[in-house]
Amino acid sequence: MNKIVRKIEKQHNLSLEELVLLIGNDCYDKDLFEAADRVRQKYVGDGVHLRGLIEFSNVCSRSCFYCGLRCENRNVNRYSLGADEIISLAGRAKELGYKTVVLQSGESSVYSVDKMVYILREIKKFDLAITLSIGEKSYEEYKQFKNAGADRFLLRIETTDTAIYKALHPDMDFSNRVKCLRNLKKLGYEVGTGCLIGLPSQTPLSLARDLLFFREIGADMIGLGPFIPNPDTPLSLERGGTFEMARKVMALVRLLMPDINIPATTAMETLSPDGRILALQSGANVVMPNVTDFVHKKYYNLYPGKSGADVPAAFAKRALEEKIEKIGRFVSEDFGFRKKNI
Ligand code: SF4
Repeated sequence: MNKIVRKIEKQHNLSLEELVLLIGNDCYDKDLFEAADRVRQKYVGDGVHLRGLIEFSNVCSRSCFYCGLRCENRNVNRYSLGADEIISLAGRAKELGYKTVVLQSGESSVYSVDKMVYILREIKKFDLAITLSIGEKSYEEYKQFKNAGADRFLLRIETTDTAIYKALHPDMDFSNRVKCLRNLKKLGYEVGTGCLIGLPSQTPLSLARDLLFFREIGADMIGLGPFIPNPDTPLSLERGGTFEMARKVMALVRLLMPDINIPATTAMETLSPDGRILALQSGANVVMPNVTDFVHKKYYNLYPGKSGADVPAAFAKRALEEKIEKIGRFVSEDFGFRKKNI
């Protein structure tokens, strides 16, 4: 095995230049995937944590250039579920055996803080861990959500290359996003972040900087998605990212941050029929099956061809469990919090 791969497997550390070298060359990929799988087994074991994803509103006031839910897109049927519908979906997730629900929406003011607090308190009664993924909020709002029972928060930085960030998020401020991540850490959330792989102008250097940023910010979860161009966005004609590059960056995350939680993302499965399983064999230990009802799931179109959008939740969970068992892994019975191990 290559020296540099041995080094990252043993020391969980590489210089920026070494990371650029690994990202920019595919001749190390097989060794990296195998090393990440060994490190995953050593630090977080064979359990796979399933988190039930509830996409409760696709209304968004932002304009992210890569996203099908951007407010300028008129080709989306917008919906926002009522509080009781969201709570009932969480109850359904509990019945299906989930220990965590992920409440995800576009960034908007459709739900007041009081309404979110009510929803969180009610869901907490099911004895579920709750992850929020609702975008940038004030410190005070994050605090109220935490006090109401939210355990984790996902806020992807998307890219740490500030030139790319600015070009793709004309109405957003990179430094505010970083501030939000730091506020979430301060408030005691388990914090998830991550990036898109294959954005226009992204280079191995920008991806290597993303990796070092994840470690510097002390992320507890990292989610990586290949960028898949959406026809209703300004990036419709871009090439997009590849499954293999997303898999490699994910493997590098596992090698750099051995004890964190890493989802095998839906976008990976969209690009490769067995994408999630391959991801689970290259460092990932989490899957977030969608438990949103059938009617609304198809309107949450961040990108086209989303895997599993037309499969009923109970069926999808059973099929996934079978695949997990087939590769010698098992579905974890605990809440799946990060167990710091390094
Ligand atoms: S990425 Fe998130 S914040 Fe940006 S447009 Fe899409 S849903 Fe809105």
